[in-house]
Amino acid sequence: MTKCPVCQKQINLEAADSLTGTTPGGAKEVDPTAGTRQFHDGTWYYFDSIECRNRFTQRPDSYLE
Ligand SMILES: [Zn+2]
Repeated sequence: MTKCPVCQKQINLEAADSLTGTTPGGAKEVDPTAGTRQFHDGTWYYFDSIECRNRFTQRPDSYLE
């Protein structure tokens, strides 16, 4: 388990990976209702929603220590 850096909600990593993982043919569409993730500064960050990911994308520094 990990936390959404934006709203601190708990996220199931296995579920997030199964929904947002890549395949040999390319990246899958993420499921906006089940969580998503983003690669930032060498680390994968997980989010519970597209809204949180968008907020993080706009101002990542404000959500990181
Ligand atoms: Zn969130």
